[in-house]
Amino acid sequence: MCPQLGLSGAIASSAIVGHASNGISSRRGKFPCAQGRALRSRVVTFAAPKGVLCDLDGVIYASGTSVAIPGAADTVRYFRERLAVPWLFVTNTSTKSREGLAARLRDMGVPCRAEDIVSPAKLAADWLRAHKAEPAALFVGPDLAPEFEGIQQLPPDAQSGAAAVVIGDMGLDWNYASLNRAFRLVMDGELRCEEAEAQRCGKCASAATATAAASVASTASASASSTTAVGATATATAGAAAGSSSLPPAVRRGRGRRGASAPPLTLISLGKGRYYKDTDGYSIDVGPFTAALEYATDQKALVLGKPDPLIFKLSAHSLGLQPEEVVMIGDDVRGDVGGAQAAGLRGLLVRTGKFREHDLHVGVTPHAVLPSIAELPEWWHQQQREQEQGQQGQQVLVDSMMPMTLLPPAAAVGVGVGVVLPAGRGRQQGKGNAAALTTAGA
Ligand SMILES: [Mg+2]
Repeated sequence: MCPQLGLSGAIASSAIVGHASNGISSRRGKFPCAQGRALRSRVVTFAAPKGVLCDLDGVIYASGTSVAIPGAADTVRYFRERLAVPWLFVTNTSTKSREGLAARLRDMGVPCRAEDIVSPAKLAADWLRAHKAEPAALFVGPDLAPEFEGIQQLPPDAQSGAAAVVIGDMGLDWNYASLNRAFRLVMDGELRCEEAEAQRCGKCASAATATAAASVASTASASASSTTAVGATATATAGAAAGSSSLPPAVRRGRGRRGASAPPLTLISLGKGRYYKDTDGYSIDVGPFTAALEYATDQKALVLGKPDPLIFKLSAHSLGLQPEEVVMIGDDVRGDVGGAQAAGLRGLLVRTGKFREHDLHVGVTPHAVLPSIAELPEWWHQQQREQEQGQQGQQVLVDSMMPMTLLPPAAAVGVGVGVVLPAGRGRQQGKGNAAALTTAGA
């Protein structure tokens, strides 16, 4: 942040460049800084939210228990039954099916049906069916079996032949043998990919040879020496293509490397959380296992869970709303808040579950930090009142072109993620450096 010019000055000097039909307006500004370079900012003004996405573990119930957080059940009932606000639960939990989770919530007094829950397992099962990626090798807990009903699965001991490898939370069932089996399955897919690529290129080379030969044959006046030259070129091309054991990095790495043909294997991760809070302490989540496989195989996983923005966008779509019309509430500043903000939603952090004060300094600035979900109604109605008074919150988005050296370290990490404050208040929510970028709006 430029120390010589407050953001209020930047806002005052910026021009309104557009109003979206959904009540969101944005301004772009350009203002000098101490080093004489231009900083570019974009101020997005949100209307009051219309829908809610809500994490489960650490927000609705205490992590690893069946005890609801005080006020959670009343809050959910208030929003869903009294206000009729569109609401979905979005969880990375991959140890229980959605039906099992819904039953658990109902036991706590939280109204919920299986279809009210968006989970990575559900998305993965839909993806496998849609792409006919069978047989699939599932590295998930036994309680997730109902989600994958009807999908052909690889025998538990098979070390090759999978069309997809699905990585979830297996708790203590993760060990060297299980992780190494997943690795071998992915590598088997890699080898099949290379073979398929070599065969495809071999066919191309054969076709090229045939074309060249036909061309030569049709040219009756061609000299013997020129025929030899054409044949030699085709042979050299075929050799280079068929000998593709050294495929270029762009072909070997990442999704889509196999072109339009169906990939022999897809590595799917049910979220990419780093850790979660269990009854006996913090525990490794699925993310580190996925990262290990990505590192070992040079494959990039398809992440169908938090913090990938995809699950938030799909969930907002399921509510019938645009991302900016939806607020996500969670206890994971990166997985819930950062992921939601990256998808265009507002992200609220609660001080329950896995929350630590350290979370306010990791480069992600929540739109608000609430003591618990029990305070969500008050925050919600505050947003409604401010919209009625024409004082919508604002989010300051600093363009990535902004020289990173001008930002404090934490704010630099959070570039592109601002903070929403009600106009006219100048209140800071959270202690992240990005909060210092925000002040009362116009
Ligand atoms: Mg959580």
